[in-house]
This record gives sequence, C-alpha cells and structure tokens, in this order.
Amino acid sequence: MATSGARNKKLGGLGQWWGVLAGVLLIAAWVNKAAGPAVVIGLSALVFLWCFFQAPVTCKADVRGRVDGCRNNASGLLLGCHIRQHRLQKLKMLVARRQVRAFCSSLFSDGKATVVTLSGLGSFASGLAAMIPGVVAH
Ligand SMILES: [Zn+2]
Repeated sequence: MATSGARNKKLGGLGQWWGVLAGVLLIAAWVNKAAGPAVVIGLSALVFLWCFFQAPVTCKADVRGRVDGCRNNASGLLLGCHIRQHRLQKLKMLVARRQVRAFCSSLFSDGKATVVTLSGLGSFASGLAAMIPGVVAH
C-alpha cells in the first residue's frame, strides 16, 4: 500500500538505488569465482553501507498525530529523513533497549525496507564468509 511518491526526482530517485546494482555485482562475484575475496569484501562493504546510510527507505520516525509516522524518504535504515530529530530518533532507538524491537520491526515494515534489510544482512553474511580463507578463492 505504501508505494508513494518516491519517484518525484526521476533520475535522482533511480540513482539512489545504486546499492542494488552493487548487490547484483556482489552476487556475480560469488558466482564467478575469478573474482577474488577482495572484490567480494569490497562489494559487501559497499552494499552494507548503502543499506544503512544511503538506501531510500521511508523515514517512519514518530510524528505526533500520525499512526504510520514520517513519510519522508530517509537515507538508509539507520538514519531518518532530512529532519534532524528524526535522524537521531533511529539511533536512539538502538541505544534504548526497550525500543530495539520496534526498530527491528521497522526494518520489515514495508516492501522497500524489507528488500534493503535483506540485502544488508546478505552483504554482511557475504563479507564475513569472504573473510574465511578458502571460501572465495579457489
Ligand atoms: Zn522523518
């Protein structure tokens, strides 16, 4: 239901999805064993950073009088939108233990967030796996 105006910036909007491209390259690097561990680790790090600090997800910070929270585009799962308080709100949620669950459920709150969260987890796992000697290089 929440597929709203992420498209208002045309090219700028598409450019925000470069992390997905990096993710595709990462999968290709895994499939094609010619790419060494350095490539896999590098791409994993890129995708990971994109997910947490760049991905165009919805902000969802608490806004008084709004059940579904802030609808602005945020930059990444960890940061909120351009409103400074919203940026801090997500980080605070991670620090306050009672809110970690709310934060975790917000990671899967809609299609976009789920895709970004899963790529974040995937890139993290792939980065770790690539650091185990012999997993990538053969
Ligand atoms: Zn916001």
